[in-house]
Amino acid sequence: MIDYEVSRNRMVNEQLKSRGIHDERVLTAMGIVPRHLFVDQAFWPRAYEDHPLPINQNQTISQPYIVALMSQALELNGGEKVLEIGTGSGYQAAILAVLGCDVYTIERHKELSKKAEKLIKKIKIKNIHFKVGDGSMGWVEEAPFNRIIVTAGAPEIPGELMNQLSPGGRIVIPVGNLATQRLMIVIKGEKVIEKHDVCGCSFVPLLGDKGWSND
Ligand code: SAM
Repeated sequence: MIDYEVSRNRMVNEQLKSRGIHDERVLTAMGIVPRHLFVDQAFWPRAYEDHPLPINQNQTISQPYIVALMSQALELNGGEKVLEIGTGSGYQAAILAVLGCDVYTIERHKELSKKAEKLIKKIKIKNIHFKVGDGSMGWVEEAPFNRIIVTAGAPEIPGELMNQLSPGGRIVIPVGNLATQRLMIVIKGEKVIEKHDVCGCSFVPLLGDKGWSND
């Protein structure tokens, strides 16, 4: 029998703390949310290992380190209104909700969105709002957002997302080509837009009007 709590604590210590994740609230959230429940049962024994795993529709749940790094890069205090593009399994959204955010998450595959919504309800995580659609256009009816996180690789930073970000807000987004991207933090200042390059990464593509074409 696998003790998933032990596996989770080991993940926090060996994959996150030791590699520079220092935000205590992020480390706590990563230690609470049961990542194994977000993948098919066949993958439960590998759920706390240091890599992405397949979910349905040929998509992936991101590597724990990347989830923690992106969450830390958002610089959350709790209470922020956050837009996530790419619900996938719902795991990143769950981490953000446990961090005290009001989460608006968009997924283009209806099946993934509904599955994630069902699980989130079952494990009683609150304050996540789900939408099926093209997240590259943002969620204009709910804008502005204090933070935006894009969990798929974009060819560029969609202008729509910048427009839907509050002043002082930040976007964390992988930008690059279809194979590799740079994880970027974009901060919307009063007068200037600051951009910081965090590291290299490799995400499934952001498909859609302001992403890659779906042909
Ligand atoms: N955040 C997810 C999680 O915690 O499991 C992982 C996301 S997975 C790496 C990327 C997701 O982005 C996929 O589920 C994919 O279908 C979705 N996606 C790609 N383009 C999209 C778009 N334009 N709008 C919404 N979702 C999109």
